[in-house]
Amino acid sequence: MRILIVEDNRRLAQLVAKGCAREGFAADLCPDLESARAAIAAARHDAVILDLGLPDGDGLQLLAGLRAEGNDIPVLVLTARDALQARVQGLNSGADDYLLKPFAMEELVARLRALLRRPGQALGRVLSAGNVSLDTVAREVSIAGAPAVFSKRETDLLEILLRRQGRVVAKEAIEQGLHAFDDEISSNTVEVSVHRLRKRLAEAGANVEVHTLRGIGYLLGAA
Ligand code: CA
Repeated sequence: MRILIVEDNRRLAQLVAKGCAREGFAADLCPDLESARAAIAAARHDAVILDLGLPDGDGLQLLAGLRAEGNDIPVLVLTARDALQARVQGLNSGADDYLLKPFAMEELVARLRALLRRPGQALGRVLSAGNVSLDTVAREVSIAGAPAVFSKRETDLLEILLRRQGRVVAKEAIEQGLHAFDDEISSNTVEVSVHRLRKRLAEAGANVEVHTLRGIGYLLGAA
């Protein structure tokens, strides 16, 4: 399980990350909306712990954006008691749960576990484009309904591109995304991985391909 923690209070974020780690969850820390959006676009998370007062805006903006995109990742909102009343409406419009600050770490972990157990979450989550689909939990790719063998790196890259299909993904965003899956990323990893994924997709009869926009990035689109 990989948890995204969006919290600008560094001490608190690190405490929460530690609490997650004790439960065996990997945690990524983002101190603002901008980095949180990049993290969500680049890697698969199983849940988000979201502070509302962030330096570049309100956490509810992030939540609203996710829901508008049809992203149903479980979100646990952290909020101060005195801010709760004003937030109720926003919370109703997309948060899965909320926790009042200050909170006990045991409480946070219990709520998080409850969110992750909800049906439809953290279980089979299938992304697709054209005749290509990826089960992001089982890490299985199928093309035109038939299972296809992709390496781990190819699967990770495919996930990153599928999550942003129809949009250009900058090389740096892919690099960051791959880094979240695997630490061993060298300077030409993205090029090599794209080359291999492109070949793999073509061989397997995919009707989508990875387009290169020179100097800009990559785009998964119709072949
Ligand atoms: Ca804050």
